[in-house]
Amino acid sequence: MRAVDLIREKRRGGEHTPAEISFLIQNFVQDAIPDYQISAWLMAVLWRGLTEDETFALTAAMVASGETLDLSAIPGPCVDKHSTGGVGDKTTLAVVPILASAGVFVPKMSGRGLGHTGGTLDKLEALGGTRTALTTEEILTQVQAVGACICAQTSCLVPADRLLYALRDATDTVESLPLIAASIMSKKLAGGCPSIVLDVKVGGGAFMKTLEEARALAVLMIKIGNAHGRKTIAVLSDMNVPLGYTVGNRVEVREVVSLLQNNAWAESLLKTVVCTLAAAGFLLAGRVSSLGDGLRLAETQIASGAAYQKLWEIVDAQGGDTDYLAHATKPPIAKVKREIRAETSGFVRHVNAEMIGLAAMRLGAGRAAKEDTIDPTAGVVLRETVGCAVTAGNIIATLYTGSEIAAREVCPSVLAAFEIGREPEPLPSVIHEIIGLDPTNT
Ligand code: URA
Repeated sequence: MRAVDLIREKRRGGEHTPAEISFLIQNFVQDAIPDYQISAWLMAVLWRGLTEDETFALTAAMVASGETLDLSAIPGPCVDKHSTGGVGDKTTLAVVPILASAGVFVPKMSGRGLGHTGGTLDKLEALGGTRTALTTEEILTQVQAVGACICAQTSCLVPADRLLYALRDATDTVESLPLIAASIMSKKLAGGCPSIVLDVKVGGGAFMKTLEEARALAVLMIKIGNAHGRKTIAVLSDMNVPLGYTVGNRVEVREVVSLLQNNAWAESLLKTVVCTLAAAGFLLAGRVSSLGDGLRLAETQIASGAAYQKLWEIVDAQGGDTDYLAHATKPPIAKVKREIRAETSGFVRHVNAEMIGLAAMRLGAGRAAKEDTIDPTAGVVLRETVGCAVTAGNIIATLYTGSEIAAREVCPSVLAAFEIGREPEPLPSVIHEIIGLDPTNT
């Protein structure tokens, strides 16, 4: 078998056998096929696509490129969760402790933010001292002791994804549905959980811009999960508007703590998404027999303080600053604070997620390139969001940053991200669809 023949085959729209896909991935990981050939193959895949069988084979080959987590020692149901990423998407920091506080074990491996979307590890590390690089043994020990961990993907799990993702990033081949599905699901399968909750974001601030694309990705990922015997549910949630009131790292921790402590900001679309994802997790874990019961259990875990207590335990177990967590509801101490004021009176009809995400990145909350460092105190706090009535001159957003220049530069785009109309618009729904609730789900 030769890589060049497989590139030609895919370029002409042919279908690979599982053995051919395994040959490509195995040899690429072992450095026996050069980057330039895999880059050419990725571009051919982007144009020609992969069949479902090819996508299943690619996922399996990626899983086989490394180790898998053995969760047999965990004394209870294990659930994993994944979000396709968005602006202000802090759901993991709330969903994991909600599930763990009710006896569902969650060995959660997360990623970092890139571009206009944030990453859970950056938010957790913004607490100061939090260790996110756990070994396999540390993951298993912590999940047994505390019920959950939130850490980085270990280097021995799915090495093929790390290598492929770097090439996809450099060759603009990220936006291929089968490549995204195989990338996400290979990591979930290697993570070892029998149940998986997927949060597929849809809208201007997400990878999937339309409901049709998001649905196709969700269905493909559910099929991959089911083919490997994993029960999988996908929640399609909105990402046209930033999720919640905050975009940045410390500010997002602050909002999660508010939510789990039932403080200001507790009632928001963020809570709806968090409780829906937790409810799906409870359902898959067999803790409840309906989504409605799952929603009620999630609310109970928040109202009783159990979920907040569990977040505290997770942060403490990973060496994070629990003092900061206890005082997280205070505003961040950033060098520069800038208020954005409405220029007209009316009702907020839209807040553009992508524009706010890019503004937060330029303020220092995110990375334009992987090697960039981030400022944990930087970010945007929305004082008003969709549906709110505003008066000209009133504050609609606050910017936090270490850079005067960045603050000055992003002010116009944050203001432009707000669409204010004369009449109120009906509130958009934040949960578009839930797929995989079917009882025949594996
Ligand atoms: N998230 C991933 O983990 N992989 C992708 O390809 C896209 C989003």
